[in-house]
Amino acid sequence: MKSVLLEKSKKHLRAQGGRMTAQRRLIVETLSSLDTHPTAEEVYRIAREKDSTLHLSTVYRTLRWLEQEGLIASRLFDDERRQERFDATDHNEHYHFMCNSCKKVIEFDTLLVNTIKAQFELHSGAQVESGSVVLYGTCADCRKQIFAAEQPD
Ligand SMILES: [Zn+2]
Ligand SMILES: [Zn+2]
Repeated sequence: MKSVLLEKSKKHLRAQGGRMTAQRRLIVETLSSLDTHPTAEEVYRIAREKDSTLHLSTVYRTLRWLEQEGLIASRLFDDERRQERFDATDHNEHYHFMCNSCKKVIEFDTLLVNTIKAQFELHSGAQVESGSVVLYGTCADCRKQIFAAEQPD
């Protein structure tokens, strides 16, 4: 699997005289393969299946480094655990929907949010520099399951 994030990470490491170790590669590849915005523990659990010598602290350190390099973003969602989640899709500005049932994260683009920004700027005279919008609800899959559970067959 060719990962853009992996290639960028290698370049950043090289520029700092660092090396892409097997464990760093595994962590980066695991994060890129997930579109769930996983927590560090989730990355750890999945990556550990391929390398049982991996430590959670290594996962944290690597994710933190990727974040500092601007290659990934950390996000806080208002779910009950309020755990930091890591977002490998940091190339574009985008926003998130989180399903309250299965915790799936769905990304959406900025078109609607741009409208909000423009309207706000027009009314307030302020200039918006950044923002965060998170919507919560029930995803299509969970809605289907709830609907199926309610229908006796
Ligand atoms: Zn995202
Ligand atoms: Zn769901």
